[in-house]
Order: sequence, then structure tokens, then C-alpha cells
Amino acid sequence: MKFEDYSIAAEIKTSLAKLNYRRPTDIQFKSIPPILKGEDVLAIAQTGTGKTAAFAIPVINQLHMRKIKGRMDGIKCLVMVPTRELAIQIHQVFETIGKHTRVKSFCVFGGVEEAPQIARLEKGIDVLIATPGRMFDLASRGFIKLDRIEVLILDEADHMLDLGFIKDIRDIMTYLRKKNKRFSFRLPSTKLLKNWLIPWLIMLFVF
Ligand code: AMP
Repeated sequence: MKFEDYSIAAEIKTSLAKLNYRRPTDIQFKSIPPILKGEDVLAIAQTGTGKTAAFAIPVINQLHMRKIKGRMDGIKCLVMVPTRELAIQIHQVFETIGKHTRVKSFCVFGGVEEAPQIARLEKGIDVLIATPGRMFDLASRGFIKLDRIEVLILDEADHMLDLGFIKDIRDIMTYLRKKNKRFSFRLPSTKLLKNWLIPWLIMLFVF
């Protein structure tokens, strides 16, 4: 199977060809079709296996198609990550793959001035990549609006558990469930999650 054979936008295929991505990696082959159908995906893959593009390609495609058909307001996809380095890296992948599309992404993280982040958020974005602390801080003051989110991605979720972000993750999931009844996925107990401790766990909930 080649990327050319996928039913994804030509604008994305152009970027993939420029990146020299011809065939999907194993994780991409398994996760792109269900995400395109809007199914929840829980995927586990090591770093270096192409996991970022495994969610970036289908998410960009779905949002791009929606934008072509009409107006779309608010953040549609939230990617939560444990570190600023990962936030920057994922944002770059979204920018590169989405270069020729209408999808705009941005990342926020702590330890830097917030004014430039607020200024960019106010211009409007479709995909937000964020570390939990700065995300909740900006959301509590109304600079990030979470009420339009349809896709939640937890990247390196095992690392987020180690860093004690589990309550933040549960809080955002509870909030999304209240807003959107279709979002029914529940995280297992923290004890069970700790037992799973598999490195580089991604969980994708697309609804
Ligand atoms: P990741 O696991 O997301 O950190 O990606 C690891 C590396 O694989 C990155 O340098 C990507 O640019 C590259 N990559 C991702 N998908 C593909 C693909 N389908 N073909 C070739 N390289 C890829």
C-alpha cells in the first residue's frame, strides 16, 4: 500500500511526497483507516516508528475536508503531551504535513512568556498541541476554548502518568464527555494504567 492509494486530500499527498514518505509505516498502516472513519484508536508504538504522522495525517485530512466544505470555528483537536520538546516536534509535523491545507496548528507550553501564545491563539487555530500546566492555565482564563474539541490525543501518555498529569487528563476527559455525549471512552483506573507502563503509548479518541 502506498500513500498515493489512500483516500486523503491531494494537498496532503503533495507534502508526503516532498517528505519522501511513500509507504505507511506499520503503525500508520494500522491507525490511519480507523481514524479516517472516526473510530477511537488506542495505539502503542516506540519512538521512531512514525507515530506522529499516524495521527497527524488523518486528523489534518478530516479537518481540511471540513474547512473546504464550510466555516469551522474553534479548536477541533487537542494533543496533550508531557514536554515542551515534544509539543514543538509535533507542531512541526502538523505544519509540514498540513502545509498545503487550510489546517492551522499551534503549540503552547510553560516556562516561556505567555503573551505571544495568547496573541496567536486569538487569531484562531484548528489543532492545539499543549503541555497540561500551560493549557489549563490559559483555558481557565478563557484564552483557550475547549468546547469545540472533537479529537483528543494523548501522546506519551505513560510519561504523563509518571509526571503526575493523570488528574489533568481525567479532568479534560470528564469535561469533553459532558460537552459531547459521543465521547464515551473512559480511562481505566490509575492502578491498571501504571501496570501497563509501556513506553511511548499513544491514545487517540476520535469522535
Ligand atoms: P516518529 O515516530 O513520529 O518520531 O517518527 C520517526 C521518523 O520517521 C521521523 O523522522 C519521520 O519523519 C519519519 N517517518 C514517519 N513516517 C514515515 C514514512 N511513512 N516514511 C518514511 N519516514 C517516515
